[in-house]
Amino acid sequence: MTIPEIKQQLTLAQVLQYYNLKPDKSLRLHCPFHDDKTPSLQVYYKTHTCYCFSSNCKTHGKSLDVIDFILHKENCTKHEAILKAVEMIGYYEGKIKHRHTSVNNETAKLTISRQQFLHNMFTYFKNAIHNSKPAQEYLQSRCIDFKKTEVGYNAGQFHHGARKDEAMIKQCLQYGLLLDLGLTGRTGDTAYKPFGKWCICFALRNQQNEIVSLYFRSTLSDKEQRHFYLRDRQGLYPNYPKAETRKLILTESIIDAATLLEQDSIKSNYEVLALFGTNGLTEEHTVAVSRLKELEEIIFFLDGDEAGNKAVAKYAPMLKSAYPKVNITNIDVPQGEDVNSLLQGHSPDILAHLITTRKAFDFFLSNEPTENKKEEARLPDWQATPFIEGETLQVPIQNKDDCLQTTQAASVATATIQPNTTGLDTNNPYNLQYQGTQALYQIKGFRVEQMDSLKITLQIILNA
Ligand SMILES: [Zn+2]
Repeated sequence: MTIPEIKQQLTLAQVLQYYNLKPDKSLRLHCPFHDDKTPSLQVYYKTHTCYCFSSNCKTHGKSLDVIDFILHKENCTKHEAILKAVEMIGYYEGKIKHRHTSVNNETAKLTISRQQFLHNMFTYFKNAIHNSKPAQEYLQSRCIDFKKTEVGYNAGQFHHGARKDEAMIKQCLQYGLLLDLGLTGRTGDTAYKPFGKWCICFALRNQQNEIVSLYFRSTLSDKEQRHFYLRDRQGLYPNYPKAETRKLILTESIIDAATLLEQDSIKSNYEVLALFGTNGLTEEHTVAVSRLKELEEIIFFLDGDEAGNKAVAKYAPMLKSAYPKVNITNIDVPQGEDVNSLLQGHSPDILAHLITTRKAFDFFLSNEPTENKKEEARLPDWQATPFIEGETLQVPIQNKDDCLQTTQAASVATATIQPNTTGLDTNNPYNLQYQGTQALYQIKGFRVEQMDSLKITLQIILNA
């Protein structure tokens, strides 16, 4: 089939439909080729072309026809885009039942879709967990059970041995699982660098629940480089929330979402969706949430630190203005903790307990003009009025509640003997810390309703 023949038979509308892209009333789309906040891709059905008006876009300045569109969407060569176009024509003619089956066997290897390829790789990584002691130990340290959660391990060996296969290596390079840094191995062959080596990995899925991307989390204690997303990140974790979702919990990380989903009581009552960090509420999250017609509540369960609080302050009003009828609530996560860390040393009940004691997000306080006020509003109750050493505690008292908080905060502050040095630190009521000269003592536990079932954990961490 020649290019003009393809262009005659394949409409732009079909290509967009194939990728589940729906332009708005003014025929604009959120551009799939760059991180697009406002729809900047204009669709022209008459000429079967489109044009991205954003100067941030790699396609900017070029009018895209159906083949260009496929080329950028699949991140492939022109030849592969042509094969894909032929496959689409077959799909729409009904000759091909499934979207991602190729036209004939000869091109099968070339046209195995991104979804199919990543599905295969993820299956391989999942199987690798069973043979890897470091992976199992790491997961155990994060309280993740690989029998409950779909998780894989990348030892960086996937392109060696029996699996060495040209088509496979080509696709690894195409999707970013192998990087060609121009290095040569001992045998004189090109030596590729595996992406996400020594990482556990999780699958990101599209609306059809197909794997469209992978997320890697390092098992090494490297503070700088821990999170790795495959090039051209797409999809959500664990998946697009169910259409009938009423209560949706947003977590800061994928591991946090996995942690919550391992708790049956939480899983059965809430849908969980991971953000990609504190700046990681993406276009795709917004699209997924906008599909939830029965949504009643969005619950933020981000980290108990400044970045987490700031993210809630930023995203809560944004979501409220997009979905005025949806309640926005926030979970007071103890200072310095996150969903996953809470589980280390506590019984899992603490997560359900924190969720039940969630509070409505206070839009009034968050709208206060001064930046300081905003921060204050986001701090958990026991820290509502931060105590600054050497300063007298002066807090404007607006109402009875504030007055109460001030008193509490003051008593907390007096009990705190200079955090980060020696002494007792009660800033986090779920984790009382005593810094002795020999060791750090952490008492973890939390208030339960019945007095007879209070469990605590004592951790003693020797000073380095
Ligand atoms: Zn663009």
